[in-house]
Amino acid sequence: MSYIDNIRKVVPYTPGEQPKVEGEIIKLNTNEFPYPPSAMVEKALESLDIDTLRLYPNVTAAPLARAIAKYYGFEEDEVFVGVGSDDVLANSFLTFFASDVPILFPDITYSFYDVWADLYKIPYVRVPLKDDFTVDVNDYKVKNGGIVIANPNAPTGIALPLESIEEIVKANPDVIVIVDEAYVDFGGESALPLVRKYENLLVVQTFSKSRAAAGMRIGFAVGNKTLIKYLSDVKFSINSYTMNQMALAAGVAAIEDKEYFKETVTRVINTRNWANKQLVKLGFNVLPSSTNFVFASHKDVPARDIFEYLKTKNIFVRYFNKDRIDNYLRITIGTKEQMEKLVKVLEEYLK
Ligand code: PMP
Repeated sequence: MSYIDNIRKVVPYTPGEQPKVEGEIIKLNTNEFPYPPSAMVEKALESLDIDTLRLYPNVTAAPLARAIAKYYGFEEDEVFVGVGSDDVLANSFLTFFASDVPILFPDITYSFYDVWADLYKIPYVRVPLKDDFTVDVNDYKVKNGGIVIANPNAPTGIALPLESIEEIVKANPDVIVIVDEAYVDFGGESALPLVRKYENLLVVQTFSKSRAAAGMRIGFAVGNKTLIKYLSDVKFSINSYTMNQMALAAGVAAIEDKEYFKETVTRVINTRNWANKQLVKLGFNVLPSSTNFVFASHKDVPARDIFEYLKTKNIFVRYFNKDRIDNYLRITIGTKEQMEKLVKVLEEYLK
C-alpha cells in the first residue's frame, strides 16, 4: 500500500494542439471563430470599472443569465451560466446522471463525454452511429440512466432534425436528456423551443464558437427551473464564484450585438459551403456539415499523411486516431483567405 493507491487516476480529455511555432500559422484545429468578438465587447471591457475586480462577482452570473434569458425568451431562473460549456456539461453530468443504469451517447461524438463519465464513475454505453454517421433514434428507446446528444454532432458536423431530438426526449421522460448545441448556430435546429414542453430536457450552448469568445469561457444551459436549481446546487458545492467580472461584462455585450452575430456567422457558413465544394473537387468525401468545421476523408491519401503534411506548412487541422474515424480530418472553417490558402496547399500536395 502506498499513497499512490489513494489517488484518483483519470485519463484526461486531450484538447486540440495550441501550436508553438515560429511565423504565421493557420489554426483550423479547435473550431474557434475566425473573426474577433463584437466591437461592443471591446467597449464593455474598456469601460469596466477596475474597482469591480476587488469584489466577488455575482454568484449566479445574474446579469449574463438575464441577458441570455431575454435573448432566447426565457426567465433568468431557467438559465445556468458556466465557465464554457465544458464546465456546464461537467456539472450537468454530476447533477443529472446519478443513476446506476448506464447513460447513453454515440460512439462517435464529443470525446469529453466518456472522460466526465469515468471521472464521476457514471456507467455508460457508447451507442454506435449508423454507417453514415447518423443517429438511429430507436437506439435511444431502451432503458437508460440519461442521454447526451451533441446536435449538430462533433466531429462529424452532422445535424439531427429537431423531430428526432423530440422523439428521444419524449421517449425518455424518466431521465434527463442533455442536448449539447455547441455548433447549433451554424445550421442546426435548436431544441430550446422544446424546453418548456419537456421537463427532462436540458439544452447546453456556448459563446466559444458562434459568439467568438472561446477565450472568455462562457457556456450556458437552459432547462426548467427545477433542473436549473439542482444544477446550481451542485455548482455551489464546488465553486460559488465561477464567472469573473470581465466575462460577465463581455458576455452581456456579445449577446446583445445581434447584428454582428448574424453577419459573421453567415460569413462562416458561406465560407464553409465554398470550402466544401473545393474539397470535393480535390477528391475528398465531405460529410454534410451544419457546423463551423467539416469532416472530410480523401479517396486516395490517408488522413494522417495529409494532417502531417499540412503541419509542415504551418496549417493545423484535427486528426483523431480513433476507431471508424481514423481516415478523416476535422477542418475548422477559418476566414475565406485562410481557406483559400488551405485549398492551394492541398492542391499542390495532392496533384
Ligand atoms: N461541446 C462540444 C460538442 C464541443 O465541440 C466543445 C468544444 N470543444 C464544447 C462542448 C466545449 O466548448 P466550450 O467549453 O469552449 O464551451
